[in-house]
Amino acid sequence: MTLSAQADPTGQYAAFYDRSLAEPEAFWAEQAGLIDWFEPWHQVFDGSQPPFAKWFVGGRTNLCHNAVDRHAATRPDAAALIWSSTEVDQEKTWTFAELLREVQAMAAVLQDQGVGEGDRVLIYCPMVPEAVFAMLACARIGAIHSVVFGGFASLSLAGRIDDAQPKLIVSCDAGSRGGKVTAYQPLLEEALRQSTHRTERVLWIDRGLQPLQRTAGRDLVWHEERERVAGRAVPCAALESNQISYTLYTSGTTGKPKGVQRDVGGYAVALAMSMKHIFDGRPGETYFSTSDIGWVVGHSYIVYGPLIAGMATLMYEGLPVRPDAGVWWRLAAKHKVSVMFSAPTAVRVLRKADPAYLTQSDLSGLRSLFLAGEPLDEPTARWIRDALGKPVIDNYWQTETGWPILTLARGVAPMHERLGSPGVPMPGYRAVLVDPETGEPVTEPGHKGVLAMDYPLPPGCLQTVWGDDQRFVNTYWGSLPGPQRYSTFDVATRDADGYTFILGRSDDVINVAGHRLGTREIEECIASHPGVAEVAVVGVADALKGQVPWAFVVPKGDGQGLAQGVQAHVDAQLGAVARPARVLVLPLLPKTRSGKLLRRAMQAVCEGRDTGDLSTIEDASALQGLKAVVAAA
Ligand code: ATP
Ligand code: MG
Repeated sequence: MTLSAQADPTGQYAAFYDRSLAEPEAFWAEQAGLIDWFEPWHQVFDGSQPPFAKWFVGGRTNLCHNAVDRHAATRPDAAALIWSSTEVDQEKTWTFAELLREVQAMAAVLQDQGVGEGDRVLIYCPMVPEAVFAMLACARIGAIHSVVFGGFASLSLAGRIDDAQPKLIVSCDAGSRGGKVTAYQPLLEEALRQSTHRTERVLWIDRGLQPLQRTAGRDLVWHEERERVAGRAVPCAALESNQISYTLYTSGTTGKPKGVQRDVGGYAVALAMSMKHIFDGRPGETYFSTSDIGWVVGHSYIVYGPLIAGMATLMYEGLPVRPDAGVWWRLAAKHKVSVMFSAPTAVRVLRKADPAYLTQSDLSGLRSLFLAGEPLDEPTARWIRDALGKPVIDNYWQTETGWPILTLARGVAPMHERLGSPGVPMPGYRAVLVDPETGEPVTEPGHKGVLAMDYPLPPGCLQTVWGDDQRFVNTYWGSLPGPQRYSTFDVATRDADGYTFILGRSDDVINVAGHRLGTREIEECIASHPGVAEVAVVGVADALKGQVPWAFVVPKGDGQGLAQGVQAHVDAQLGAVARPARVLVLPLLPKTRSGKLLRRAMQAVCEGRDTGDLSTIEDASALQGLKAVVAAA
């Protein structure tokens, strides 16, 4: 990799990365020493069937063993899981020894219901510790977990039940959000009615928030079962590295979610590597990811990554602004968090509150804040960095990859940060920008291309799409002309120092009278206008120009005169070609449950089309509001 002396002053990172590509087997075999193996592999990498890849073939290991048992053996009294809920005002810590007990009990309950290797267990829960016990218990016995985000309602859930075909579902009586109890049981019952798959068993976590209606012969309740199996030891299954650990659906930002399927050994190794070299998290410290176990960040960096690294993981149930916008920082101070992970959308929410909240807590133990999930615009990055006085590290990846593709590796060597860019490719990712028309690599600094990866993807990435190898091959490896490459479907540029900038999804490139513009570029520009709190830009079909940008703006103040101000601002900064044909002011933007802008749906509204699958929308009223604004425009 070519990184300028400014980007990588010691050249250490480039050397580390280059070795991962030049000698992948040696590189990953070395990283594999970060975890325990029951039996050694006989082949580091099997690339006999591209685009499929197998890592550590023949090796036997177990995610739960690496996350729990091995630490329980050496540091039984160290904190492993800290659960804090501002919804039910409770906080509890489990040491590694205590976590091991809970996980074994959960595993025993699953086994008693006939759940074994390869069986699916669907987990539909709010942020409760029992959901983590269930994930680890599945990993322990070789069952495949499929966690469905607890904020989804019946229809989304039914589709995922039919896709995963679980033997057993773990769920809760209820969750709570902003102090308001939401019953889960009616949603699950409705989903079970809608799904064609027949689920034999439901294991309920009874939080005492809502009365449970039991169905005889189908339903079990965790605290009763736990009593029954108390003290039973359940050993970790020695799983072949390429057995399936879990399936997880993508966020559904661009359409029907895809069931990402992941292995055991490669994933464990990739996470261990990332904890050491990217996040720089050390045993005995506390990691705090504000994500949800329903997303990939929750899988990799609430549950498996920190625990594999021997850290305590802080799991939070609640909103970032309740009781006030200082809640995360108080938790971070109280539990001496050293590494924190959140999303730009959350930072934008905090930015609307008093910045004093960030300085009221003692964050001396915090080394870095990582942010991922969507573009981190410069104003947001600068604000949080200055308010915290800590490095704020953007990291770019996908549900598909399981761990960061682009970021800065904290544990390797100090690297210069560049706001607006997540950084450089991480080990094993053969990242290349590709011209989507010709398939030719784009090497000129500043020129746009689709971010793609040459075969093979590193350990930890998706094995395939669950139950649909053809979709894996066609969708991911068959969309670009030229040699077979994995497409991220994101458009990017690279600067002369070697930093990559993500401009948006490949569908989000607007073609205005032959000029290709990324919606992200226009959004970045508009976001820097002082009157703008949030912005979304979409390309709208136009008879004359092909497409024109429309901007939806959430104002900081009353929004008076903002539309003209924004247009003038874009004219001055990007030029008239990028000027939004319409600037529409509204109080709320439509987003997915994970905080991503639903551009696809917004574009459909602007073009008078059907909005398609909206099962992942956060707040339907935001789209109603947008429809009204568009209709009035
Ligand atoms: P779907 O694939 O179902 O449409 P999704 O792509 O939103 O949904 P995820 O896997 O959760 O599902 O999100 C990955 C995508 O999020 C990336 O492809 C990219 O578009 C965006 N993204 C993630 N992190 C960053 C980042 N740091 N900067 C810019 N974009 C990011
Ligand atoms: Mg995606």
